[in-house]
Amino acid sequence: MADASALPRGLRLLMFGPPGSGKGTQAAVLAEELAIPAISTGDMLRRAVAEGSQLGERVESIMNSGALVDDETMAEVVRHRLQEEDAQRGFLLDGYPRTEGQAQTLAEILDDRGEQLSAVIFLDVPNEVLVQRALARQRADDKEEVIRERLRVYHSQTAPLLGYYRDLGLLRTVDGSHSIEAVTDAVLASMTGAA
Ligand code: AMP
Repeated sequence: MADASALPRGLRLLMFGPPGSGKGTQAAVLAEELAIPAISTGDMLRRAVAEGSQLGERVESIMNSGALVDDETMAEVVRHRLQEEDAQRGFLLDGYPRTEGQAQTLAEILDDRGEQLSAVIFLDVPNEVLVQRALARQRADDKEEVIRERLRVYHSQTAPLLGYYRDLGLLRTVDGSHSIEAVTDAVLASMTGAA
């Protein structure tokens, strides 16, 4: 097990990876290890749908189609969440940003706080592994056309952000095709030097 205690406290991290890369699982484990909140916009939206809130009603059909909720709505959700007490000393964002506009909004939010990102983690998983995983865990809401749409949206809108974060020197690419524990270790090891 890599030693998370060797890393600085209060890291501000982003988690990237295609649908099925295990980023939700890794985000939860890493957040626990690093004592920062894992903030999953997908989970927040699913909760809103389950609660039947105004936000939930607005986003339900969009989510069910595999498309993205609009940037303005997401800006409001994330701005609000990052104001909460537990996000004042670091956070791990899972599923945000997903578009260029969202990356810009996040940069503005952090700028206002006088903060910078510590690192951006990219879980790299070959397509054939993604397909195998998707087939293995097929649930009622994992319809094939929705899975395909999520992958398409990821490649067209989200993957291009990796170049932006690479240019900023923040990108840490980790092979996400191994066991949960091995991937966690590799991520922690990749972050030596993050501040
Ligand atoms: P996830 O669990 O992260 O795959 O998110 C599930 C769904 O929620 C996505 O397919 C989108 O419809 C919506 N969603 C979550 N995060 C975002 C985001 N940052 N921007 C737009 N839509 C999002």
